[in-house]
Amino acid sequence: MSPDPDEARRGSRASSIPAAQNAELHARTPARPTRLLTRSNRRLAREGTWTWTLPALAARLPDGRTVTTCPSAGVCAQACYARAGAYRFPAVRAAHIRNLAFVLDDPAGWETAMRNELRHPRFIGAYVRIHDSGDFFSDDYLAAWLRIVNAIPGTHFYCYTKEVLMFRRHVEPEPPANLRWIYSLGGRHDQHIDLGLDRTADVFPTENAITDAGWNWDHDSDLRAAYGPTPIGMAARNIPQAKRRQGNRTFGEWQHEARQRRSA
Ligand code: SF4
Repeated sequence: MSPDPDEARRGSRASSIPAAQNAELHARTPARPTRLLTRSNRRLAREGTWTWTLPALAARLPDGRTVTTCPSAGVCAQACYARAGAYRFPAVRAAHIRNLAFVLDDPAGWETAMRNELRHPRFIGAYVRIHDSGDFFSDDYLAAWLRIVNAIPGTHFYCYTKEVLMFRRHVEPEPPANLRWIYSLGGRHDQHIDLGLDRTADVFPTENAITDAGWNWDHDSDLRAAYGPTPIGMAARNIPQAKRRQGNRTFGEWQHEARQRRSA
């Protein structure tokens, strides 16, 4: 029996629509990263440090969502090291967006994958920097990291953050022994940082300016910043546009000026 031509047309339409939608959906859904922790940052790799990274400041996902990844960034956004140089290479940006999409679209799956990866023997005694760029963009995301850090006590975790108030609420009351955090100046919570009590970092225009101010120079070493004496000064990266904007001031001073201007 020959097929009813109308039925055949209906059938072909019915099957082609989901296929097209599937293809579109597939194109909009970034592939899952195979490795969550990398040594792609050469400066940190020199110290043997593994990193987890999100896009700096904000990102647009393939499905059109825009997500702020550094909600408390202040003036740092105008001179952000992670919005220049190799961080702008398409492959690098795509990798960071894949990471962000994984966290947002399947937070439980991401947390399990991160724990599983960290259980590999190569992470025993290793150092992991949470966020080569990006920050703790929500309470839930920070809570997931705290569960991960607590579940992997044999690994040292550290991070820089501008989420001072979030850390005051969720981390400081019961900090994991294997987590160090550094409050970095240049953000919207600067005024809540206590230089005498909090591990704090600032970006200075030059190395000489760090020692002139009596701060501890990090010698371009993250581990010194995380585990050495505080407060920590780091010299601005050699990004001409960022250096021009920063001028002769530290990120902390720049943020203070911006706050004064706003309140005036
Ligand atoms: S918080 Fe860090 S990554 Fe985010 S915009 Fe500021 S300097 Fe860049």
